[in-house]
Amino acid sequence: MTQRPLLPAMFLLMGLALAGCQQATQDTSAAESAQAPIAIVIHGGAGTVTRELMTPEKEATIRAALTAALEAGYARLASGESSLEAITAAIHILEDTPEFNAGRGAVLNFDGMIEHDASIMDGATGQAGAIAGVSVENGGLRHPIDAARAVMMHSPHVMLSGAGAKTFAESQGLEFMAADWFFTDDVYQRWQDAQNAQTSNAESQDTRWYSTVGAVALDKQGNLAAGTSTGGMTNKRWGRIGDSPIIGAGTYANNDSCAVSATGHGEYFIRHVVAYDICARMAYQGKRLTDAADEVINQILLEAGGAGGVIAMDPRGNIAMPFNTPGMYRGFIDTNGQITIAIYGDE
Ligand code: ASP
Repeated sequence: MTQRPLLPAMFLLMGLALAGCQQATQDTSAAESAQAPIAIVIHGGAGTVTRELMTPEKEATIRAALTAALEAGYARLASGESSLEAITAAIHILEDTPEFNAGRGAVLNFDGMIEHDASIMDGATGQAGAIAGVSVENGGLRHPIDAARAVMMHSPHVMLSGAGAKTFAESQGLEFMAADWFFTDDVYQRWQDAQNAQTSNAESQDTRWYSTVGAVALDKQGNLAAGTSTGGMTNKRWGRIGDSPIIGAGTYANNDSCAVSATGHGEYFIRHVVAYDICARMAYQGKRLTDAADEVINQILLEAGGAGGVIAMDPRGNIAMPFNTPGMYRGFIDTNGQITIAIYGDE
């Protein structure tokens, strides 16, 4: 994994302030709040992410987007904003990056249309919101994560779907873009490959490549939050909904155990209630985050044949990012302010 110190002067100043407080007396509330750990971890999907299938240009774009998303989220945390604000800021950048399967650049369904899914959960309150199967036909949500958050904050429900979710998002004044804005040559090509593979029985590249995005963060108040946004799986049919908008499967957050965002073959993540299972192992079995996450991804899911991975964080800011695929776009800024970005199995 590549590591480099954070460059922006703001973070440097913050580090100096923190160092100063550590030398000072420990019993003031200012010192305590300055020392409260903050951290953020993000993913841009798991799958057959190998050097052979990557171009230097694409890799540079992806690394830049992951870095920008982490820095945007971390800046919110550093200025005392909530983990919900931080993950929303990070996911906005990933949704706007066409290389990822979310927002702009989301994959096409069987009919060649984009349908977004997204969810968010607040670890402090247990509140959650989600949208599923929201088409971009006649205009789509620029940031599906905002719609999930609006469902959580401004509706009595947890999940809204299809046309109803769109009507609700409009009533909330959320940003919409014309359908054309969402489509890229890349996803069209993948869709064509998937359609051809279907008629020729060849294996489709897209059955092994997921690029959903997600973020998990811990704020100065000690609150965890998790969010996930996706276009689902290429060539999906009949209104298929994956794990990403399902609380407990693709997203989960609880201040008492952990927060998780998943990526991979959604049907397996739903059946194995992956995000919740990781947190439940911590809560009920007293397991450490890394062990709980590793067991679910590299034992339970792997044995079942489910490909994918998760990002996860515990209330102390410890981070786990297990995956059982060749690679996963991922990165974090840890409680020391150190940024790490990785793509492949080894870095
Ligand atoms: N988990 C997503 C789904 O099944 C796909 C992905 O992670 O890219 O819809």
